[in-house]
Amino acid sequence: MKIAVVKEIEVGERRVALVPDAVARLVKQGLEVWVEAGAGEGAYFSDAAYEAAGAHILEESTHLWQAADIVLKVRPPREREDGQHEVDLLRESSVLVSFINPLGDPHLVQRLAERKVTTLSMEMIPRTSRAQSMDALSSQASIAGYKAVLIAAAALPKFFPMLTTAAGTIAPAKVFVLGAGVAGLQAIATARRLGALVEAFDIRPAVKEEVQSLGAKFVEVQLEEETVAAGGYAKEISEAAKLRTQEVIAEHVKLADVVITTAQVPGKRAPLLVSEDMVAAMKPGSVIVDLAAEQGGNCAGTEAGKDVQRHGITLIGPINLPASMPVHASQLYAKNILTLLQYLIQAGAINLDFSDDIVDSTCITHDGSIRHQRIQEALE
Ligand code: NAD
Repeated sequence: MKIAVVKEIEVGERRVALVPDAVARLVKQGLEVWVEAGAGEGAYFSDAAYEAAGAHILEESTHLWQAADIVLKVRPPREREDGQHEVDLLRESSVLVSFINPLGDPHLVQRLAERKVTTLSMEMIPRTSRAQSMDALSSQASIAGYKAVLIAAAALPKFFPMLTTAAGTIAPAKVFVLGAGVAGLQAIATARRLGALVEAFDIRPAVKEEVQSLGAKFVEVQLEEETVAAGGYAKEISEAAKLRTQEVIAEHVKLADVVITTAQVPGKRAPLLVSEDMVAAMKPGSVIVDLAAEQGGNCAGTEAGKDVQRHGITLIGPINLPASMPVHASQLYAKNILTLLQYLIQAGAINLDFSDDIVDSTCITHDGSIRHQRIQEALE
């Protein structure tokens, strides 16, 4: 069985789906791994390192796509510079393993189904203990949370830690994190390591203990409705609950030097949590990093991929932060993919047992059809 690692073509994408160490493990299991020349360049993994790990290097990518039984990628397939779409390069009945953004781009899923490709979408790995080491959303979100704090610290015209110096005492920066999922918790931990005073808010009350265990204060809002959906994800809340949370958020945003927002609801636009008025009420020089910028933003006025100034506040809407730390992002992503492949490959062939929750959730196209009703509905 031939496994292919292709070079990412999206502008700014520096990650690669397998690192040499993961290649060596697959080769040891008797699998053939083909890597497109230069695929690891953006993450500082040379062709020579892949070759030393047992991979074959191929210059010509079209042939690689067509010869592969399994194609591994980071970003969803897209149109290439020569006008060909990557989906059309996939061989019928081959397997694609990649981030796909299935709910955000259901038409791509339809195209994959029409091409009769079996698609394993890394976003759809269930968030369960059993699948934890395959959970690429978590591995990449953790990088985004860490980097968001470093970006904020660099943009803030102040120190993060408290300092007692001969020239006077510096008060620690106040950081408010909105959304305490994987990215938010890593942001809290990073801001604490830099010495900031940290507060955090989430509509899922279950995260309170995790926030506190990281040394941050949990901002509580009593809501009289269920805020957690299936799989532990947040639900979209009612208008009344939104108003109630906004009142509390406003009080804490006003006092913060840095606000990091990470709130998301799967398949929906990110909730708007910080209004224009809240931004205007912050101290000049304060910084907001909106990690939900690509999903519409948690903050009014966020522009994805840009730093903007509003009311004296720097509002940063970074996109694809994991790609800015390509070495560890690729290492973790490769481990997620490796574990998934090792789980699925038996006796040299991929085994799709749809009664298994990992396979059932992750496989979004098979035998010419879309397997998930939610994706079908997103098409309508
Ligand atoms: P996410 O990226 O979907 O959202 C980020 C955070 O924003 C979440 O904590 C969410 O509750 C919060 N949020 C949504 N709407 C909000 C609002 N209006 N106001 C404030 N906060 C809001 O989340 P994620 O990091 O991908 O995690 C999603 C779920 O998956 C969580 O329950 C998490 O604990 C769970 N998870 C489980 C495992 C595992 O068991 N292996 C691994 C990772 C994540």
